[in-house]
Amino acid sequence: MRATEVTDGIVRFTFELPLGIDHVHCYALRAASGGWTVVDTGLGVDDAAARWDAARRELDGAVERIVITHFHPDHVGAAAVLADLTGAPVLQGREDYAQCVGAWGPERSPERLVAYMLEHGLPAEAADEMRRESGTLARLVHYARDPKPLVPGEHVDGWKILHLPGHADGHLCLLRDGILIAGDALLATISPNVGLYPEARPDPLGDYLSSLTRIVELAPRIAYAGHGPTIEDPVGRARELIAHHDGRLDETTAAVDGNPRTAYEVSLRLFPGALPSVLRRFALAESRAHLEYLVLRERITRVAEGPTVAYVAG
Ligand SMILES: [Zn+2]
Repeated sequence: MRATEVTDGIVRFTFELPLGIDHVHCYALRAASGGWTVVDTGLGVDDAAARWDAARRELDGAVERIVITHFHPDHVGAAAVLADLTGAPVLQGREDYAQCVGAWGPERSPERLVAYMLEHGLPAEAADEMRRESGTLARLVHYARDPKPLVPGEHVDGWKILHLPGHADGHLCLLRDGILIAGDALLATISPNVGLYPEARPDPLGDYLSSLTRIVELAPRIAYAGHGPTIEDPVGRARELIAHHDGRLDETTAAVDGNPRTAYEVSLRLFPGALPSVLRRFALAESRAHLEYLVLRERITRVAEGPTVAYVAG
């Protein structure tokens, strides 16, 4: 754990991650009362309580509340651990909490996700690895049950809660005095994964492009993100990501040529080369988001190829 005061009243905690990405940032925001609001919690690894105990000792007051930007394991994973340690309530969006329970709760069904990936062309031999990795990850998620619902538009200790979907359907950010606590809605050096998954909003890329446009309009002067460096020019970065996805949509259209192509096949064109299996699945889900964006705008067509879903031009 590394603690950095990134600006007056904002402390960034950086935790190592044993995932495709090697770290995550959580933030402590000084509250009007003198205590602190913590945003995101890292992964619920075995020593998460010890890590957070060290982190909170860097603060000169109590953790008064815990805000979750979105339900991905590296953000929500230690929510229950930190809540137990501090006694602070956890605040999470309603839509995000519903997906959190679906993904990590007792009713979770990894088989549904495996079936979805196979339907979109993932080779059958990759399914077992997917099952194994999904079980490993689920054991590292300790979300807090029945959080206090966070409502977009409301203020939490002066921070406005913004709904900026795309990376996750219910992704929330915090904005105050031109400072955006961005979660993974905006990252400095990598393009946040925008994937289409079962039981999710139908057009995550459309959502994300709208969120990026909203960031341009809100014009924050600085953004602190869930991974990577501070974003010194959030508007410029949002514009860059819009241009990036415009280019990817052209590449996606070009990849759907002649024969029907599955999302997996398209992902091999958009994300060539060897990828760890988890990143290959992200690539498939992101290709699905681009393909469905084009289907919804009648630029390509989705067809059934036996048990597999494919896409054709026109
Ligand atoms: Zn993340």
